[in-house]
This record gives sequence, structure tokens and C-alpha cells, in this order.
Amino acid sequence: MISLKRTHICGALRPGFELRPPIGVNSIPCVRKPGHIGAHEDAWGKTWFSPAPSVVCCQCKRTTAAPVTIRSIETGSGPIVIIQACPGCAPRAQGAC
Ligand SMILES: [Zn+2]
Ligand SMILES: [Zn+2]
Repeated sequence: MISLKRTHICGALRPGFELRPPIGVNSIPCVRKPGHIGAHEDAWGKTWFSPAPSVVCCQCKRTTAAPVTIRSIETGSGPIVIIQACPGCAPRAQGAC
């Protein structure tokens, strides 16, 4: 397994994998510089975009390009549902969404 210090890399994970155990190729974090522009890229050279450009805030229902994850809902067999809010609503969204 490749080990890199989080402080020197972006460290972003693919959407939906943030809260899962770090198992499998889809859980490898982005190894580009923190704050880089464009697609994330893992150690295998695979790229992806994150976060989704049109996340709807759970509070104001507007889309945001910089969503803050409030909590996740385990659906059992299905994918993890992640509740997100815009940066402005995030402090109030804790426990409200
Ligand atoms: Zn990245
Ligand atoms: Zn909002």
C-alpha cells in the first residue's frame, strides 16, 4: 500500500468513499498538491472530479460548488447517502438536517 502524508497531498477521496474503510482502488486518495486545480489524481494515475458541481444544500436547497458534509446515512446494501450543506449553512445544518 502506498503511504503518503496527508499534509502534502490533496487527499481527496472519490465521492461516496469518504466514510468507507480504506479498502480497494477506489479508496486511494488524490496525491496531487493541496488546493490543486482540476481533476483529482490517485497514485495509479486515475483521475476524477470532486465534489459534484451541483450539490444541493440541505438547508437552503440551493446548489453549491463547495459543499460541506454534515453527516452520512448508511442504507445497508445501497450506497452511503451523504447530507451536505453550503458553507454558509453548514454551522446551522449540524443536527438540523
Ligand atoms: Zn485532489
Ligand atoms: Zn445553504
